[in-house]
Amino acid sequence: MREFLVRVGVIGGGQLARMMIPAAIELGVELRVLAEAEGMSAALATWQVGDYTDTDTVLGFAREVDVITFDHEHVPQDVLHALVDAGVRVHPGPEALRYAQDKLLMRQRLSELGLPVPDWARVETVGDLDDFIADHGGTAVVKTPRGGYDGKGVRVVHGGAEVAEWFTTAAEDGRGGALLAEELIDFRRELAQLVARRPSGEIAAWPVVETVQVGGICSEVIAPAPKSAGLLADVAADVAITIAEGLDVTGVLAVELFETIDNRVLVNELAMRPHNSGHWSMDGSTTGQFEQHLRAVLDLPLGGTGSHEPWAVMVNVLGGPDQGTMTDRYAEALAGHPTVKLHNYGKQPRPGRKVGHVTAIGSDLDDVVYEARAAAAFLHD
Ligand code: ADP
Repeated sequence: MREFLVRVGVIGGGQLARMMIPAAIELGVELRVLAEAEGMSAALATWQVGDYTDTDTVLGFAREVDVITFDHEHVPQDVLHALVDAGVRVHPGPEALRYAQDKLLMRQRLSELGLPVPDWARVETVGDLDDFIADHGGTAVVKTPRGGYDGKGVRVVHGGAEVAEWFTTAAEDGRGGALLAEELIDFRRELAQLVARRPSGEIAAWPVVETVQVGGICSEVIAPAPKSAGLLADVAADVAITIAEGLDVTGVLAVELFETIDNRVLVNELAMRPHNSGHWSMDGSTTGQFEQHLRAVLDLPLGGTGSHEPWAVMVNVLGGPDQGTMTDRYAEALAGHPTVKLHNYGKQPRPGRKVGHVTAIGSDLDDVVYEARAAAAFLHD
């Protein structure tokens, strides 16, 4: 008879659920996954395929576990509330998650909390957007409030007519037809601040990191963000802690930030789950984000967030090889870079798809960047 501390149910079968599995094994936690389809990344855990938008399916899955958490933020609010009403422990809960599900709600709430965000407006017509553009130097960043990821649903425009069809689609989805307009931020770099928070209130923060995006997709993360020690690190941590407490977030919270050329820190996006910008912590920190997420949603004491080495660099493997699979490349990649840690998500290669990542740690940033990039380069074309 195997003895488990508890059972954690994860909704969503992607790579984030997959990377919770080793952490669950180490803690003696049984992990069960409700996946969207057969053959997904997390198929190594106790596994069931079902529709996460169907209340009965999700309630049935939840009855077999002690706490529910997520691989993505797309579970509808009515399903989440049905879980809470049925007495299920859900972390993060629906009241927090709605701010990760809807960028307009998020902007409104962060503004109420007095947090620094880009100038923004809710725009319902091409005319509204033209007015916003006129007030912001002839340019705006337009975002669909829901369902965007990896830069999809984000566009820089100079006239409202460029996204006329987005207004039509937004009107058809029955959620009020509004889009989010933001000022175009002239940023020096993008940062991310991760924290974890328990239901009983304890919070732990990792160091702020720099994230490098290519074509709207995260390609590299440097931990800590170079030259961030002192004020920048303190400001980033304060912002994330204020958000975690103000929105009652439980589990890992990732706050994506802009560092502007005039030295301001502005909040771009929130994710209430382990996040690509925290993958480095699996190999670079005393407590990796997947372990910390499990500890947090189970309301267990959080682990230390110190780093093993001065620098950690994570490089995503995007797309994978043109021919064959990532494992075909192992002989060269592993032999050439024995100090680099490889994480393969078990996915079919496809252009632009995140199929794995590598992390290097060490005391010389140039060496660490070189090692991580070189190892990743063996794994994709
Ligand atoms: P997603 O939900 O797809 O991650 P984001 O809101 O994070 O969308 O935007 C994706 C990328 O677009 C950001 O990482 C950043 O590079 C750029 N971006 C988003 N908002 C702005 C803005 N207001 N000003 C300048 N660039 C922006």
